[in-house]
Order: sequence, then structure tokens, then C-alpha cells
Amino acid sequence: MKIILSALTFFLVLTSYSQNKNFSQELFENYNTYQEKTINKRRIKHHEIQPLINSLKSENGFEVNILGKSIEGRTISMISIGSGKTNILLWSQMHGDEPTATMAILDIFNYLKTNKEILQNVKLHFIPMLNPDGAEKFNRRNAIGIDINRDAQRLQSPESKILKAARDSLNADFGFNLHDQSKYYNAEQTENPATISFLAPAYNYEKSINNVRGNAMKIIVEMNAVIQQYAPGQVGRYSDDFEPRAFGDNIQKWGTSTILVESGGYKNDAEKQFIRKLNYIALLKAIQTISKSTYKNIKVSDYEKIPKNDRKLFDLKITNVTFTYLGVNYKVDLGINNIEKDNKEHTDFYYIGRINDIGDLSTYYGYKTLDAKDLTFKIGETYPKIISNSIDLEDMNFEEIIQKGYTSIGLGSIPENIKYTNYPINIINIKNIAISKNNAPKSPLQFGKNPTFLLTKNNQVIFAIINGFIYDIKNGKNYIKNGIVK
Ligand SMILES: [Zn+2]
Repeated sequence: MKIILSALTFFLVLTSYSQNKNFSQELFENYNTYQEKTINKRRIKHHEIQPLINSLKSENGFEVNILGKSIEGRTISMISIGSGKTNILLWSQMHGDEPTATMAILDIFNYLKTNKEILQNVKLHFIPMLNPDGAEKFNRRNAIGIDINRDAQRLQSPESKILKAARDSLNADFGFNLHDQSKYYNAEQTENPATISFLAPAYNYEKSINNVRGNAMKIIVEMNAVIQQYAPGQVGRYSDDFEPRAFGDNIQKWGTSTILVESGGYKNDAEKQFIRKLNYIALLKAIQTISKSTYKNIKVSDYEKIPKNDRKLFDLKITNVTFTYLGVNYKVDLGINNIEKDNKEHTDFYYIGRINDIGDLSTYYGYKTLDAKDLTFKIGETYPKIISNSIDLEDMNFEEIIQKGYTSIGLGSIPENIKYTNYPINIINIKNIAISKNNAPKSPLQFGKNPTFLLTKNNQVIFAIINGFIYDIKNGKNYIKNGIVK
């Protein structure tokens, strides 16, 4: 009997494994069919997603309800689909600059237009872009500067009231709290970015695990297994310190099994389009496992096996940089980040490099790493000839200019609103060259300043670091996204 039973269990585990694999693999392979192609950049606005939401009113099985308005009067809608007994509430972008899951939800709508099998026992309720005023300015907070995720108890913001009322009216069984996190998070003690991080928030200071929270943990185990297939080792688990003001913690407390999903970074995915796809797959997989109740067989203890989140990544880590100051040599590692700066309309961005750390960074990692062991650090010069017109820049050979030791060019006239250049060099307004006279001694490496310098060997430039990006002169490779204008 025992043998038959274990054979049966083995068979069941095997079928469920292959079913899981098939479902997520299918989602991965057919993603292109359902991806919402009109949205392909992170800085999405309320007016861009409204037509997509409105068009769902005429789709079979979809209900669209306006729940209320943001402080600045933008509508906040809930889209419901399905007729099962288990209510699942999913809300995204309560932080205006965290839009990855909003994009994934739009893809999920497209999927659900023609695929309704996973709705068998569930009813889904989506609130995409809970903070449309924040999204307008690509800002975390809402229009009156409140962090909605610290307003779950006081409920001063209309956006917070809307979320609370939706949860209460549905008495949702499951809740998905969808956010973005810094791209500098990594899976603890690895160089892998935490592309997705999870948390089943605690509902008290003791961090107790009841059924409600336990079920959230089980769903996370299932979602983690899916992400591991496409981004191996790139999942983190958030600290479960109780935050009495946060929505996730409170919604867990109010009896809805709450799953926090945080979209982090992925190499060469600045617009987070691959991460959006991972959200799409993992969320649909979670819905399926709830619909089929398969999560019930998962062990809560497997949740603890997911590596913890850490924050030990830089965009660029350069090791063993030797430089000289006041006649003494120092050897340091550099942690360099490319900080996003929005354009005026908050529709696009450029980068400003920053030296974020100097010293022994052996416990840190980089999306890119460069060993400067046999190289000599050198500050670049400003090109001796001032260029009067930006059109003249077009004909310049920047590789040659950098090779000669120059990292910036003086330009005669620069319009006020020009903040960056797509050329692989920094541009200096000649008006500012005259101002920067200061005779006090200063280390050539400054914490917090723009990382622009040369790494040479036998007086030949091997690498130029321009605004935190690498120009690999020897191999003719230019990784510079933009230079800065100062
Ligand atoms: Zn957030």
C-alpha cells in the first residue's frame, strides 16, 4: 500500500510539476501575443492607460468601475473579471514612480480577453495605477506629498481611502501589492540583482504566521519557482519587520492573504520590459495556483529558503584604482551609479553619474565591473579648442579626442534647457570654465561627484570613464549613454 501511495504521490508531484512548467513556459513563449504594445516605457501617465481601461468595458466578462478620484481629479478604476468565489485584489503603482506591474497588468488584460480557464474559481479585481498624480510627475508620493504606503491607518489621502474601501467591500481572500524597488538590491551574498523581491508582510510585531499570512507565503513559493526559471538566482525576500502604517501589513491584518511583489533591476533592462514580462508570468501563475488550490500543498517553511534581499550593487564597480594626492599613493575601489534624471515633462530621462562609494568595496558587486590593477588613474583635460557651435560637434572624432586625454569639450553657446549630450564626452559651457577657480588642495577623487577620468597604461588611454560610463578605447567599445552638460 505504501509503495502504491508513494508512487501515486510521485506521479501527482510529477504531473503538477510538468503542468506548472507548461503553463509558465507557454506564458513566456506566447508573451508577444498579449503584450500591450502601445506601452513600452516606464514613465506612463494616467491619460495613456485610460483608453485601454475604457476599451475593456466592451470586452466579454470585464467590468470597469470608477472607485473615485485622486487629489488632482484623475479617475481610479477597478477592473473585475471572473465569477468565482475567491476574490483576488491586485493594485499597482501606489508609488507613482513604480510602474512595472501596471504595464504587466495591461498585458494580463489582453491575456484574459481570450483565456478564461484560470478564472474557474476566482474573481479578479485590478486597480492599476493607484497613484496617478504621482505617476504624472514620476514621483513616489501623491499630490500632497503623502506616501500612500504610510497612510493605511490615518487614511488622509483619497487614494488610500479607495484602496481600503475596495479591500473591505470585497473582503478579498488574496491581495497583490505591486511595487518597484531600487535596482541596487541584490540577492544576499551574490552579485545577482534582486530582479523580483517578495514579502508576505507581518501583521504584528511578533511576526506571527497564521493561515492568512501562511497562504501568502505559499503563493510566494510558487511565484519564486516561476521566476527562478527565467532569472535564476535573481529573487530576494524582504525583511518582515512590522510597519503598522503600511498597507501590506494592514491588509494582511484585516484578513486578506497579502503578497508584496517588488520589481528591481535586470542587466541592460533600463525600461524594465523583461521584468514586466516576469511580473506577467508570475502573477498569472499565482492566479492559477489560487484557482486550482494547488498552493495548499506547499510547505510554509520553503518560504524561508528564498535568499534575503540586500543592497550591495553598483552600476559600475572599479577595483584597485591607484591615485595620487599630495604626493601619496592610495589604492581604492569605486562604486559608481548612474542616477536617472527626468526631463521636464517626466516622460523620459538621462543619466548623471555619481561616485557613490570609495574604499574597500570587496563586499559589494557591480552590474559591470572593471579591474584597474595595472592601470594609472588620470584626470582628463578639457579640449584646448573651444567649439562655438554645437553643430561642429557632429564632425568630431571623440575616440581620438579621448585617446589624447580629453574628457570634456568647451562649447560657446548652450541653450539653458540642454542638460545632457548624446555624444560620448562631457560638454562644458565656457561661461562656467572661468568661474571654477579654486586653489585649495583637492583630491582628484571626490565622493558624491561626477565620475569622469582616464585609466592609462604606458601613457596610453585604455579606458575613459565619462559620466560614470565606460569608453573601452582598446577594444573600440563605447558604453556611454550620455555625457553631461555643465
Ligand atoms: Zn513602492
